[in-house]
Amino acid sequence: MVLEVVRYGDPILRQKGARIGRVTPELQRLIADMFETMYAAHGIGLAAQQVGHALQLAVLDIRGVEDRPSSLELNGQPTDPAALMPLVLINPEIRVLGPGVTGPEGCLSFPDIYADIVRPESIEVRAWNATGEPISFRCGGLLARAIQHEYDHLQGILFIDRMDRRERQRLQPQLDALHAETRMRLSSRQSLKQ
Ligand code: ZN
Repeated sequence: MVLEVVRYGDPILRQKGARIGRVTPELQRLIADMFETMYAAHGIGLAAQQVGHALQLAVLDIRGVEDRPSSLELNGQPTDPAALMPLVLINPEIRVLGPGVTGPEGCLSFPDIYADIVRPESIEVRAWNATGEPISFRCGGLLARAIQHEYDHLQGILFIDRMDRRERQRLQPQLDALHAETRMRLSSRQSLKQ
């Protein structure tokens, strides 16, 4: 089922996700719905907060992007990043390996808003996979950027928090408009319920 993607202005995007204790059938259903939602929106990553659940859960698939390379090291061996896709990260932890690099980013919760963001080029990731088994790998390039973007979501951090001041100032009018539109939509839904 394709879920509604929460937009900037909804307070759930600022909530830190709760640690997941075990993989239940309900969680597997949510994971399947998150993939369906992400593919329908042509995204490469989606965090649980973006579909209304404050949990340590994100899904990713970078196979659709051909012009921005990724690297992957599995068990110490260079591996085709496609081998890891589609990727489910439950309770992820990240260790920074490389220096910061600048790259373009967008977010499904910020339609039509893009900015250059500095993030470490390579990282080590530890998490559970979709069946609750521990996984670990090292990655770089687009995959490392996408995982760090999703990891931030799970902590309630948004890519606008990582923008430099000039990028943030350039986008501020669009951000304010989006925030106001979301708040208005949320309050009209609230009054419908009453
Ligand atoms: Zn995002």
